[in-house]
Amino acid sequence: MSKPVEIVEVGPRDGLQSQPTLIDTDTKIEFISRLVDAGVRRLEVASFVNPKRVPQMADADEVIARLPRRAGVSYIGLVLNMRGFERALATALDQVNSVAVASDTFCQRNQGVTSAEMYEVIRDMARAAQAARRFFGVTIAAAFGCPFEGEVPLERVVGMVRRYADLGVDEIGIADTIGVAVPGQVARLVEQVLPAAGGIPLRMHFHNTRNTGIANVYAAVQGGVSVFDASCGGVGGCPFAPGATGNVGTEDVVYMLHRMGYATGISLEALIDVARWLAGPLGAQPPAMVSRASVFPPAVA
Ligand code: ZN
Repeated sequence: MSKPVEIVEVGPRDGLQSQPTLIDTDTKIEFISRLVDAGVRRLEVASFVNPKRVPQMADADEVIARLPRRAGVSYIGLVLNMRGFERALATALDQVNSVAVASDTFCQRNQGVTSAEMYEVIRDMARAAQAARRFFGVTIAAAFGCPFEGEVPLERVVGMVRRYADLGVDEIGIADTIGVAVPGQVARLVEQVLPAAGGIPLRMHFHNTRNTGIANVYAAVQGGVSVFDASCGGVGGCPFAPGATGNVGTEDVVYMLHRMGYATGISLEALIDVARWLAGPLGAQPPAMVSRASVFPPAVA
């Protein structure tokens, strides 16, 4: 029996948001439809942020209105403040996710508030989401390191997980937003964070900025985490690391997990086709690796 691992595809949001060429709504819908056809069942498709800051997400409402609706497929929208949260709640999105940041400087630069102020915002969001019966998750960003403050103490992340778990959120994400984590650090964090989450599912988000992304997924899955963000083609960067490689590639993660005996429900071959297709709209070969290689094991004639 293979163990189930859930892949949350973040390409349509995290992947596309920092692309230099504006991706139109038709292309986003085609991207999402192709991913769903490949077997992806949960996708982050929009963020409700200032369109002047993130022009790539200006069509969030139109994307949501045109999402392919299939049984068992759910869609997530990202929010950074109460205004965005209210916009998201007014849509037909299944899930809303907000972001707490493990460093004050990063939180100020990204969201204009301190970590403590953001906690109060998220507490209010959690209450409103519960009242509206909407799935609500929180991601702790920069959990493995901050571009301004450097190392982030593990105890701080564990403390944040405890506080957010106490709010009764539906899921807690841990993100290596700038791609600095290494597997030993991930293993130690998972060991301490899983009990701190008190049964609330953990979702991990890795970037391959320094080529440790897939090793970090390995460390986390071995430690007992069973939900991972990934981006088809490995697209998506970090605004604080221009030009850097993006999220772990969905096809790279799926390839490794399947051959390790985990089941994701996603067709690797179909996923590789989506990654290859994506090179067209992006105007460049996406950075992940498996879609550049030949399919293995090969189909036996
Ligand atoms: Zn990311």
